[in-house]
Amino acid sequence: MIDFLNLKLINQQYREELIAAATRVIDSGWYILGNEVAQFEQEFACYCQTEYCLGVANGLDALILILRAYIEMGVMVEGDEVIVPANTYIASILAISENGLKPVLVEPDPTTYNLNPALIEQHINGRTRAILTVHLYGQVTGMDEINTIAGRYGLKVIEDCAQAHGALYQGRKVGSLGDAAGFSFYPGKNLGALGDAGAVTTSDPQLAKTIKALRNYGSHEKYKNLYQGVNSRLDEMQAAMLRVKLHYLDSETERRRAVARRYRTEIINPTIRLPEWAGDESHVFHLFVVQTDNRNQFQGYLTDHGINTVIHYPVPPHKQTAYECFSGLSLPVSEAMHQHVISLPIDPTMSESAVDAVIAAVNGFNV
Ligand SMILES: *Cc1c(COP(=O)(O)O)cnc(C)c1O
Repeated sequence: MIDFLNLKLINQQYREELIAAATRVIDSGWYILGNEVAQFEQEFACYCQTEYCLGVANGLDALILILRAYIEMGVMVEGDEVIVPANTYIASILAISENGLKPVLVEPDPTTYNLNPALIEQHINGRTRAILTVHLYGQVTGMDEINTIAGRYGLKVIEDCAQAHGALYQGRKVGSLGDAAGFSFYPGKNLGALGDAGAVTTSDPQLAKTIKALRNYGSHEKYKNLYQGVNSRLDEMQAAMLRVKLHYLDSETERRRAVARRYRTEIINPTIRLPEWAGDESHVFHLFVVQTDNRNQFQGYLTDHGINTVIHYPVPPHKQTAYECFSGLSLPVSEAMHQHVISLPIDPTMSESAVDAVIAAVNGFNV
Protein backbone atom coordinates (compact mmCIF):
# COMPACT_ATOMS: atom_id res chain seq x y z
CA MET A 1 0.00 0.00 0.00
CA ILE A 2 1.28 3.49 -0.84
CA ASP A 3 0.58 5.75 2.12
CA PHE A 4 -0.97 9.15 1.66
CA LEU A 5 1.52 10.57 4.16
CA ASN A 6 3.92 8.47 6.21
CA LEU A 7 4.45 10.50 9.39
CA LYS A 8 6.31 7.69 11.09
CA LEU A 9 8.93 7.57 8.35
CA ILE A 10 9.18 11.38 8.19
CA ASN A 11 9.95 11.67 11.90
CA GLN A 12 12.19 8.58 11.94
CA GLN A 13 14.65 10.46 9.72
CA TYR A 14 15.34 12.83 12.64
CA ARG A 15 14.89 10.32 15.46
CA GLU A 16 18.28 10.87 17.13
CA GLU A 17 18.00 14.65 17.01
CA LEU A 18 14.41 14.60 18.27
CA ILE A 19 15.39 12.37 21.19
CA ALA A 20 18.31 14.67 22.04
CA ALA A 21 15.98 17.67 21.96
CA ALA A 22 13.38 15.92 24.13
CA THR A 23 16.11 14.95 26.60
CA ARG A 24 17.25 18.58 26.74
CA VAL A 25 13.72 19.66 27.69
CA ILE A 26 13.25 16.87 30.25
CA ASP A 27 16.55 17.71 31.91
CA SER A 28 15.94 21.47 31.90
CA GLY A 29 13.19 21.30 34.52
CA TRP A 30 11.33 24.10 32.67
CA TYR A 31 8.35 23.09 30.55
CA ILE A 32 6.22 26.14 29.71
CA LEU A 33 7.36 29.44 28.12
CA GLY A 34 11.07 28.92 28.48
CA ASN A 35 14.18 28.94 26.35
CA GLU A 36 12.97 26.48 23.67
CA VAL A 37 9.86 28.55 22.88
CA ALA A 38 11.86 31.79 22.91
CA GLN A 39 14.49 30.28 20.57
CA PHE A 40 11.91 28.77 18.24
CA GLU A 41 10.02 32.06 18.05
CA GLN A 42 13.20 33.85 17.08
CA GLU A 43 14.21 31.20 14.54
CA PHE A 44 10.76 31.01 12.94
CA ALA A 45 10.38 34.82 12.78
CA CYS A 46 13.75 34.91 11.04
CA TYR A 47 12.68 32.13 8.65
CA CYS A 48 9.43 33.97 7.82
CA GLN A 49 11.17 37.37 7.49
CA THR A 50 9.01 38.97 10.22
CA GLU A 51 9.88 40.91 13.38
CA TYR A 52 7.86 38.67 15.70
CA CYS A 53 6.65 35.13 16.16
CA LEU A 54 4.41 34.04 19.03
CA GLY A 55 4.05 30.33 19.73
CA VAL A 56 0.49 29.24 20.53
CA ALA A 57 -1.31 25.95 21.16
CA ASN A 58 -2.48 25.23 17.58
CA GLY A 59 -3.27 26.79 14.21
CA LEU A 60 -6.90 27.56 14.98
CA ASP A 61 -5.86 29.47 18.10
CA ALA A 62 -3.28 31.42 16.09
CA LEU A 63 -6.06 32.75 13.84
CA ILE A 64 -8.51 33.25 16.72
CA LEU A 65 -5.92 35.23 18.70
CA ILE A 66 -5.02 37.52 15.78
CA LEU A 67 -8.67 38.58 15.43
CA ARG A 68 -9.16 38.73 19.20
CA ALA A 69 -6.12 41.01 19.48
CA TYR A 70 -7.52 43.32 16.80
CA ILE A 71 -10.75 43.51 18.83
CA GLU A 72 -8.78 44.35 22.01
CA MET A 73 -6.84 46.97 20.02
CA GLY A 74 -10.09 48.59 18.86
CA VAL A 75 -9.45 47.78 15.18
CA MET A 76 -12.70 45.79 14.95
CA VAL A 77 -15.79 45.10 17.06
CA GLU A 78 -18.24 42.21 17.28
CA GLY A 79 -20.48 42.06 14.23
CA ASP A 80 -17.79 43.37 11.87
CA GLU A 81 -17.13 41.41 8.70
CA VAL A 82 -14.11 39.40 7.54
CA ILE A 83 -13.71 38.21 3.96
CA VAL A 84 -12.57 34.58 3.64
CA PRO A 85 -12.42 32.05 0.77
CA ALA A 86 -15.54 29.87 0.59
CA ASN A 87 -13.57 26.66 -0.06
CA THR A 88 -11.14 26.85 2.87
CA TYR A 89 -10.71 24.33 5.66
CA ILE A 90 -13.32 25.05 8.36
CA ALA A 91 -10.74 26.40 10.88
CA SER A 92 -10.28 29.68 8.96
CA ILE A 93 -14.01 30.34 9.29
CA LEU A 94 -14.26 29.13 12.90
CA ALA A 95 -11.61 31.71 13.88
CA ILE A 96 -13.88 34.48 12.61
CA SER A 97 -17.19 33.30 14.09
CA GLU A 98 -15.52 32.40 17.42
CA ASN A 99 -14.79 36.13 17.83
CA GLY A 100 -18.38 37.17 17.10
CA LEU A 101 -17.29 38.48 13.71
CA LYS A 102 -19.12 37.65 10.49
CA PRO A 103 -17.39 35.43 7.89
CA VAL A 104 -18.15 36.66 4.37
CA LEU A 105 -17.53 33.77 1.99
CA VAL A 106 -16.02 34.64 -1.38
CA GLU A 107 -15.60 32.20 -4.26
CA PRO A 108 -12.06 31.04 -5.15
CA ASP A 109 -10.33 31.14 -8.51
CA PRO A 110 -11.07 27.64 -9.89
CA THR A 111 -7.55 27.28 -11.32
CA THR A 112 -5.57 28.12 -8.14
CA TYR A 113 -8.17 27.24 -5.44
CA ASN A 114 -7.27 30.56 -3.78
CA LEU A 115 -9.37 33.65 -3.08
CA ASN A 116 -10.32 35.33 -6.37
CA PRO A 117 -9.21 38.99 -6.00
CA ALA A 118 -11.66 40.05 -8.76
CA LEU A 119 -14.61 39.05 -6.56
CA ILE A 120 -13.51 40.72 -3.31
CA GLU A 121 -14.58 44.33 -3.81
CA GLN A 122 -18.26 43.56 -4.38
CA HIS A 123 -18.36 42.06 -0.86
CA ILE A 124 -16.83 45.07 0.91
CA ASN A 125 -19.14 47.34 2.90
CA GLY A 126 -18.92 49.69 5.91
CA ARG A 127 -18.53 46.78 8.35
CA THR A 128 -15.69 45.01 6.51
CA ARG A 129 -12.48 45.06 8.55
CA ALA A 130 -10.20 42.35 7.21
CA ILE A 131 -9.39 39.89 4.44
CA LEU A 132 -8.36 36.46 5.73
CA THR A 133 -6.65 34.78 2.81
CA VAL A 134 -5.65 31.10 2.81
CA HIS A 135 -2.68 29.77 0.84
CA LEU A 136 -4.63 26.60 0.19
CA TYR A 137 -2.87 23.30 -0.56
CA GLY A 138 0.48 25.15 -0.25
CA GLN A 139 0.16 27.72 -3.04
CA VAL A 140 0.55 31.44 -2.37
CA THR A 141 -2.44 33.70 -3.03
CA GLY A 142 -2.05 36.69 -5.40
CA MET A 143 -1.06 39.04 -2.59
CA ASP A 144 -0.42 42.18 -4.66
CA GLU A 145 -4.08 42.43 -5.65
CA ILE A 146 -5.27 41.61 -2.13
CA ASN A 147 -2.95 44.14 -0.48
CA THR A 148 -3.98 46.80 -3.01
CA ILE A 149 -7.69 46.27 -2.27
CA ALA A 150 -7.01 46.18 1.49
CA GLY A 151 -5.05 49.43 1.23
CA ARG A 152 -7.88 51.11 -0.68
CA TYR A 153 -10.46 50.27 2.02
CA GLY A 154 -8.23 50.30 5.11
CA LEU A 155 -8.59 46.56 5.79
CA LYS A 156 -6.23 44.25 7.68
CA VAL A 157 -4.76 41.36 5.72
CA ILE A 158 -4.40 38.09 7.60
CA GLU A 159 -2.74 35.04 6.04
CA ASP A 160 -3.76 31.50 6.95
CA CYS A 161 -0.40 29.79 6.37
CA ALA A 162 -1.35 26.42 7.89
CA GLN A 163 -0.66 24.66 4.57
CA ALA A 164 2.08 26.85 3.12
CA HIS A 165 5.15 27.00 5.42
CA GLY A 166 8.06 28.43 3.44
CA ALA A 167 6.21 29.34 0.22
CA LEU A 168 7.64 32.41 -1.52
CA TYR A 169 5.95 35.33 -3.22
CA GLN A 170 8.20 37.77 -5.09
CA GLY A 171 11.12 36.72 -2.90
CA ARG A 172 9.19 37.08 0.36
CA LYS A 173 8.00 34.29 2.63
CA VAL A 174 4.37 33.63 3.50
CA GLY A 175 3.72 34.89 7.01
CA SER A 176 5.26 38.25 6.06
CA LEU A 177 2.92 39.17 3.20
CA GLY A 178 0.08 40.77 5.19
CA ASP A 179 -0.44 42.34 8.64
CA ALA A 180 -0.40 39.04 10.51
CA ALA A 181 -0.36 35.31 9.81
CA GLY A 182 -1.44 32.11 11.52
CA PHE A 183 0.55 28.87 11.23
CA SER A 184 -0.38 25.34 12.29
CA PHE A 185 2.25 22.75 13.19
CA TYR A 186 -0.26 19.89 13.40
CA PRO A 187 1.79 16.71 12.75
CA GLY A 188 0.61 16.33 9.15
CA LYS A 189 1.47 19.89 8.06
CA ASN A 190 4.66 20.62 6.11
CA LEU A 191 6.32 21.72 9.36
CA GLY A 192 4.77 19.33 11.85
CA ALA A 193 5.27 18.99 15.59
CA LEU A 194 4.78 15.71 17.46
CA GLY A 195 1.49 16.98 18.83
CA ASP A 196 -0.55 20.17 18.55
CA ALA A 197 1.27 23.46 18.01
CA GLY A 198 0.83 26.77 16.20
CA ALA A 199 2.23 30.28 15.83
CA VAL A 200 1.44 33.83 14.81
CA THR A 201 3.91 35.86 12.77
CA THR A 202 3.72 39.63 12.40
CA SER A 203 5.89 42.72 12.21
CA ASP A 204 3.35 44.85 14.12
CA PRO A 205 4.76 45.42 17.64
CA GLN A 206 1.41 46.27 19.21
CA LEU A 207 -0.27 43.19 17.77
CA ALA A 208 2.61 40.99 18.94
CA LYS A 209 2.44 42.42 22.44
CA THR A 210 -1.33 41.93 22.64
CA ILE A 211 -1.16 38.30 21.47
CA LYS A 212 1.72 37.58 23.86
CA ALA A 213 -0.55 38.61 26.73
CA LEU A 214 -3.76 37.03 25.35
CA ARG A 215 -2.20 33.56 24.97
CA ASN A 216 -1.16 33.62 28.64
CA TYR A 217 -4.41 34.52 30.50
CA GLY A 218 -4.25 38.09 29.21
CA SER A 219 -1.27 38.65 31.44
CA HIS A 220 1.63 40.87 30.42
CA GLU A 221 3.25 40.58 33.83
CA LYS A 222 2.88 37.71 36.28
CA TYR A 223 -0.40 37.97 38.26
CA LYS A 224 -1.42 41.15 36.44
CA ASN A 225 -4.12 40.84 33.78
CA LEU A 226 -4.67 43.32 30.98
CA TYR A 227 -7.25 41.22 29.11
CA GLN A 228 -9.61 38.32 29.77
CA GLY A 229 -7.19 36.05 27.95
CA VAL A 230 -6.91 32.32 27.33
CA ASN A 231 -4.37 29.58 27.91
CA SER A 232 -2.96 28.93 24.45
CA ARG A 233 0.76 28.46 24.84
CA LEU A 234 3.20 26.48 22.73
CA ASP A 235 4.96 24.13 25.15
CA GLU A 236 8.71 23.66 25.47
CA MET A 237 8.62 20.04 24.24
CA GLN A 238 6.87 20.89 20.96
CA ALA A 239 9.07 23.96 20.46
CA ALA A 240 12.14 21.72 20.82
CA MET A 241 10.72 19.26 18.24
CA LEU A 242 9.97 22.13 15.85
CA ARG A 243 13.48 23.58 16.18
CA VAL A 244 14.87 20.27 14.91
CA LYS A 245 12.38 19.97 12.08
CA LEU A 246 12.67 23.59 10.91
CA HIS A 247 16.22 22.76 9.75
CA TYR A 248 14.82 20.24 7.29
CA LEU A 249 11.75 22.13 6.08
CA ASP A 250 13.34 23.51 2.91
CA SER A 251 14.84 20.18 1.86
CA GLU A 252 11.51 18.41 2.50
CA THR A 253 9.75 21.07 0.43
CA GLU A 254 12.20 20.49 -2.43
CA ARG A 255 11.40 16.78 -2.27
CA ARG A 256 7.65 17.55 -2.41
CA ARG A 257 8.24 19.76 -5.45
CA ALA A 258 10.22 17.01 -7.15
CA VAL A 259 7.27 14.60 -6.73
CA ALA A 260 4.87 17.31 -7.97
CA ARG A 261 7.08 17.98 -10.99
CA ARG A 262 6.98 14.29 -11.93
CA TYR A 263 3.21 14.07 -11.48
CA ARG A 264 2.72 17.17 -13.60
CA THR A 265 4.85 15.98 -16.49
CA GLU A 266 4.12 12.25 -16.41
CA ILE A 267 0.40 12.12 -15.62
CA ILE A 268 -1.16 12.34 -19.07
CA ASN A 269 -4.66 11.01 -18.44
CA PRO A 270 -7.04 13.54 -20.09
CA THR A 271 -9.79 12.83 -17.51
CA ILE A 272 -7.54 14.05 -14.67
CA ARG A 273 -7.06 17.82 -14.27
CA LEU A 274 -3.69 18.69 -12.74
CA PRO A 275 -3.01 21.65 -10.41
CA GLU A 276 -1.66 24.95 -11.79
CA TRP A 277 1.92 25.75 -10.87
CA ALA A 278 4.45 28.21 -12.27
CA GLY A 279 7.20 25.66 -11.46
CA ASP A 280 8.73 28.04 -8.90
CA GLU A 281 8.81 28.42 -5.11
CA SER A 282 5.28 29.84 -4.86
CA HIS A 283 3.95 26.33 -4.14
CA VAL A 284 5.13 24.03 -1.35
CA PHE A 285 2.74 21.19 -2.26
CA HIS A 286 1.24 20.47 1.12
CA LEU A 287 -1.24 18.61 -1.07
CA PHE A 288 -1.28 17.54 -4.71
CA VAL A 289 -4.92 18.05 -5.62
CA VAL A 290 -6.36 16.88 -8.94
CA GLN A 291 -9.91 17.04 -10.24
CA THR A 292 -11.97 14.46 -12.05
CA ASP A 293 -15.65 14.16 -12.93
CA ASN A 294 -15.67 10.57 -11.70
CA ARG A 295 -14.12 11.03 -8.32
CA ASN A 296 -15.69 8.17 -6.41
CA GLN A 297 -14.85 5.71 -9.17
CA PHE A 298 -11.29 7.11 -9.39
CA GLN A 299 -10.77 6.84 -5.63
CA GLY A 300 -12.07 3.27 -5.54
CA TYR A 301 -9.85 2.35 -8.50
CA LEU A 302 -6.74 3.79 -6.79
CA THR A 303 -7.57 1.98 -3.53
CA ASP A 304 -7.77 -1.27 -5.54
CA HIS A 305 -4.31 -0.44 -6.91
CA GLY A 306 -2.90 0.02 -3.40
CA ILE A 307 -2.85 3.82 -3.42
CA ASN A 308 -4.31 5.85 -0.56
CA THR A 309 -5.97 9.15 -1.39
CA VAL A 310 -7.83 11.78 0.67
CA ILE A 311 -10.49 14.33 -0.28
CA HIS A 312 -9.75 17.94 0.76
CA TYR A 313 -12.60 18.61 1.38
CA PRO A 314 -15.79 16.64 0.78
CA VAL A 315 -18.28 19.22 2.17
CA PRO A 316 -17.94 23.01 1.69
CA PRO A 317 -18.18 25.11 4.88
CA HIS A 318 -21.50 26.70 3.85
CA LYS A 319 -23.07 23.22 3.60
CA GLN A 320 -21.92 22.13 7.07
CA THR A 321 -24.51 21.55 9.81
CA ALA A 322 -22.46 23.84 12.06
CA TYR A 323 -23.07 26.75 9.67
CA GLU A 324 -26.79 26.56 9.00
CA CYS A 325 -26.67 30.35 8.84
CA PHE A 326 -25.01 29.95 5.40
CA SER A 327 -27.44 27.33 4.08
CA GLY A 328 -29.12 29.84 1.76
CA LEU A 329 -25.85 30.74 0.02
CA SER A 330 -25.17 29.61 -3.52
CA LEU A 331 -21.44 29.24 -4.23
CA PRO A 332 -21.29 27.17 -7.42
CA VAL A 333 -17.50 27.37 -7.95
CA SER A 334 -16.80 26.01 -4.46
CA GLU A 335 -19.58 23.45 -4.68
CA ALA A 336 -18.24 22.04 -7.97
CA MET A 337 -14.72 21.96 -6.57
CA HIS A 338 -15.82 20.00 -3.51
CA GLN A 339 -17.37 17.39 -5.81
CA HIS A 340 -14.31 16.93 -8.02
CA VAL A 341 -11.16 17.30 -5.91
CA ILE A 342 -9.02 14.39 -4.73
CA SER A 343 -5.49 14.48 -3.30
CA LEU A 344 -2.79 12.08 -4.50
CA PRO A 345 -0.05 10.89 -2.13
CA ILE A 346 2.73 13.45 -1.73
CA ASP A 347 5.30 13.05 0.96
CA PRO A 348 8.99 14.00 1.29
CA THR A 349 9.88 10.38 2.02
CA MET A 350 8.12 8.97 -1.05
CA SER A 351 10.35 6.67 -3.13
CA GLU A 352 10.71 7.05 -6.90
CA SER A 353 9.12 3.62 -7.32
CA ALA A 354 6.08 4.75 -5.32
CA VAL A 355 5.83 7.85 -7.54
CA ASP A 356 6.14 5.55 -10.61
CA ALA A 357 3.32 3.38 -9.28
CA VAL A 358 0.98 6.35 -8.68
CA ILE A 359 1.67 7.74 -12.17
CA ALA A 360 1.12 4.36 -13.84
CA ALA A 361 -2.13 3.77 -11.95
CA VAL A 362 -3.51 7.24 -12.67
CA ASN A 363 -2.63 6.95 -16.37
CA GLY A 364 -4.32 3.53 -16.47
CA PHE A 365 -7.65 4.86 -15.18
CA ASN A 366 -10.40 5.05 -17.75
CA VAL A 367 -14.05 5.76 -17.25
C1 LIG B 1 -4.78 22.70 9.67
C2 LIG B 1 -5.40 24.00 9.33
C3 LIG B 1 -5.78 24.94 10.31
C4 LIG B 1 -5.85 24.61 11.76
O1 LIG B 1 -4.72 24.17 12.37
P1 LIG B 1 -4.76 23.29 13.72
O2 LIG B 1 -3.37 23.33 14.21
O3 LIG B 1 -5.24 21.93 13.36
O4 LIG B 1 -5.71 24.00 14.66
C5 LIG B 1 -6.22 26.16 9.89
N1 LIG B 1 -6.32 26.48 8.59
C6 LIG B 1 -5.99 25.61 7.61
C7 LIG B 1 -6.11 26.04 6.18
C8 LIG B 1 -5.52 24.34 7.95
O5 LIG B 1 -5.21 23.47 6.97
